[in-house]
Amino acid sequence: MGKVTGFLEIDRQERKYKPAADRIRHYKEFVIPLSEETTRDQASRCMNCGIPYCHNGCPVNNQIPDWNDLVYKNEWEEACRNLHSTNNFPEFTGRICPAPCEASCTLNIEDTPVTIKTIECAIVDRGFKQGWIKPEPPRHSTGKKVAVIGSGPAGLACAQQLRRAGHEVHVYEKNTFPGGLLRYGIPDFKLEKTVVERRVGQMTAEGVIFHCNVNVGVDVTMGSLIADYDAVALAGGSEKPRDLPIPGRELAGVHFAMDFLPQQNRRVSDEPILTNEHILASGKNVVVIGGGDTGSDCIGTSVRQGALKVTQLEIMTRPPDRENKLVTWPDWPLKLRTSSSHEEGAMREFAVNTVAFIGDDSGALKALRCVKVDSKFQAIPGSEFEIPAELALLAMGFVAPVHEGMLDQSGVKYDGRGNVAADTIAYKSSVEKVWACGDMRRGQSLVVWAIREGRQCAASIDQHLMGETLLPH
Ligand SMILES: Cc1cc2nc3c(=O)[nH]c(=O)nc-3n(C[C@H](O)[C@H](O)[C@H](O)COP(=O)(O)OP(=O)(O)OC[C@H]3O[C@@H](n4cnc5c(N)ncnc54)[C@H](O)[C@@H]3O)c2cc1C
Ligand code: SF4
Repeated sequence: MGKVTGFLEIDRQERKYKPAADRIRHYKEFVIPLSEETTRDQASRCMNCGIPYCHNGCPVNNQIPDWNDLVYKNEWEEACRNLHSTNNFPEFTGRICPAPCEASCTLNIEDTPVTIKTIECAIVDRGFKQGWIKPEPPRHSTGKKVAVIGSGPAGLACAQQLRRAGHEVHVYEKNTFPGGLLRYGIPDFKLEKTVVERRVGQMTAEGVIFHCNVNVGVDVTMGSLIADYDAVALAGGSEKPRDLPIPGRELAGVHFAMDFLPQQNRRVSDEPILTNEHILASGKNVVVIGGGDTGSDCIGTSVRQGALKVTQLEIMTRPPDRENKLVTWPDWPLKLRTSSSHEEGAMREFAVNTVAFIGDDSGALKALRCVKVDSKFQAIPGSEFEIPAELALLAMGFVAPVHEGMLDQSGVKYDGRGNVAADTIAYKSSVEKVWACGDMRRGQSLVVWAIREGRQCAASIDQHLMGETLLPH
């Protein structure tokens, strides 16, 4: 373990953010890494618990106590190797994972979990800086060909694992660049796109072949891919947004979050916007409907674009500031979470339902009509009110993958929620030679779950193609 008395002697210390007044002037990352010495001190707080709940709380089962110990002992290169043995992309999770591992950490009972995510990010960032993370092309070729559709974290993890097992791997992506939501959903201020490009560069050097600007189901049929490849992995994400079909939904100025966020990511990357309608928050009163990650990203982006005022509406009642550990630990607790974007200036309203969008004579949004609701989402009589707004962003989550096109063409069966039906042992769909992983299989989720599913799906495909597999499941 780290230092036997580390957790008694050293306080938890987290990375800090650059001041909000500075960071809202640009789209760059603003987290200030800890010094090497402080990171080692933080790693030394790990108690190497007999039952490391962190390891189980982490969806990719990172060997957290092991690399905490290695960092404490200054064995960073070995820590980097260990970290990559369970997670293909710790530089993504080290930046944007909500860190269920920290919620599970034994020291979280005292509200002072080990700063696991910070240490993870420090290990991988150092690994890249020192040149320890190199392309790992396979030593042999199996002669088998696999198509992976979608280049989000699930597709990338699946492709990297399969390539390293010696298969010829082709990734099909309908967007101009690989990365999925890492590239077009999550803003640069949380994850700069050079971080995604660096990993895609490693994969290209390993021999993964990317076919971008190819929409499967439109530019190429599923039938031809199934015929041409030994296996096809569906990793197309969960792209159908939840709508709010209330009066005024058709007004100009009411948009899905995922019509708004990708535009800004493209602007930052000097990519064309792909439409004549630029959705901008500049000089507007903005209302974001929905309280999750997507809603937060809409706030941060609106503030950077120069919104007059940003209000976030959440239909759920305000959660408690602090969880009851005896009831929740080591599980993920329900509690009030304040993101860096919230800190940059958003009014948060809880227990509010939007009942109508109100327009002006030209058909443009001018206000939202809302009502307060109780814990069963029933309207409280007499609580109606209006919020002036020229831009409303719907960030209420995603219902399912898009069925039209690729999926319907393939003939895969869906589960009760409309996701591609496949279990988490084989990740096999109902169609011969077709597998599924990530949000397309499990529904909207997290990057770390997508990485897990991509890795496990790759192991299942390898097992099917070769009769055995050395890839971890
Ligand atoms: C705005 C936003 C912010 C988020 N923030 C966080 C966060 O901070 N932390 C976190 O852990 N999670 C976050 N998430 C969730 C996380 O991004 C997803 O769970 C994760 O990206 C899912 O990975 P995936 O590979 O399954 O799918 P995706 O990342 O959605 O990738 C799917 C890819 O498939 C491609 N594709 C789809 N259909 C086709 C087709 N027919 N042909 C070719 N290509 C196709 C798409 O273009 C896309 O590139 C966020 C989600 C959103 C929307
Ligand atoms: S639960 Fe916390 S203290 Fe225990 S091994 Fe994991 S990181 Fe270390």
